[in-house]
Amino acid sequence: MKAGMIGLGAMGIGMAKNIATAGYLSGVYNRTAVKAQNLADELNVIAFDRPEELAANVDIVLMCVSADHDVLAVVEKIKTTVRPGTIVVDMSTVSSDTAKQAAAMLAEKQAAFLDAPVSGGVEGAKNGALAMMVGGDPAALAQARPVLETMTRCIMHMGPTGSGQATKAVNQIMGAGINQAVTEALAFAQAQGLPMEKVIEVISGGASGNWFLQHRGATMTRGVFAPGFKVALHHKDLLICRTMAEQIGASTTLIDMTLADYRLLMTKGYGDEDISALYRLKAVDSD
Ligand code: NAP
Repeated sequence: MKAGMIGLGAMGIGMAKNIATAGYLSGVYNRTAVKAQNLADELNVIAFDRPEELAANVDIVLMCVSADHDVLAVVEKIKTTVRPGTIVVDMSTVSSDTAKQAAAMLAEKQAAFLDAPVSGGVEGAKNGALAMMVGGDPAALAQARPVLETMTRCIMHMGPTGSGQATKAVNQIMGAGINQAVTEALAFAQAQGLPMEKVIEVISGGASGNWFLQHRGATMTRGVFAPGFKVALHHKDLLICRTMAEQIGASTTLIDMTLADYRLLMTKGYGDEDISALYRLKAVDSD
């Protein structure tokens, strides 16, 4: 099975490398072409000039781009060349409605679409240890599974098209709460003059331990906020979550609080920093 990867950002680059290591990657495309050329040279695969060319030459198209309109723009293009039977797997975080629109566009060409957002951060993408939540035809997932397994430690079929993204929204709300909790608690620890390495180590071993604390705790308390997962991207996700929550009458307390904090960070020019930059607003000497 020949696979092609569209979108070589913080996540896509690690994903592409793992697909290549397993021998499935035939080519890559990135909007900023130099990134695709550099990676193609490194992995000895093709750097396609256009997504249409990539789609015409592979059995499975994988994509990981920024937001809803980017997914639809890419699908609009690949739709013109995709062959019947091709499976398109979108690993971006977008709305369930976008997933349904993309699936309908590709169905016109008898191509399958799976919404397959992931969790696990850039570390998970690099180490092939992502958790993937999938919506769409189970038969298409079974076919794509060997390629998807090169990037993941867990693949869960959630139901029809859109249910992968609906599950990812759950993850993004939880991520907002965890970010609020870890940044606020560590700022509290630092203000008391506690030894931060020890705080992080001992709490990581107990009931409040979590991935974010372990992977971002030390850096945030040193004022290092390299992405990671950009504030602007989580902000985009939480807007989707808020719309969904309002539709079903669910609580939006954490969502609203975190959106307001992220808006402030973005206004101050920190939108491209990792979401742990929320620490900037919690630190006792915050600017
Ligand atoms: P990123 O580093 O900003 O990369 C975004 C990628 O999408 C870049 O390759 C960019 O191309 C490409 N792109 C954006 N708009 C495009 C368009 N209209 N047409 C073609 N390509 C386009 O973002 P990321 O962190 O890899 O995240 C990608 C997706 O995964 C997002 O939906 C994000 O929410 C989700 N996600 C991220 C994480 C994380 O920890 N970072 C974890 C799970 C899920 P250029 O190089 O030309 O800009």
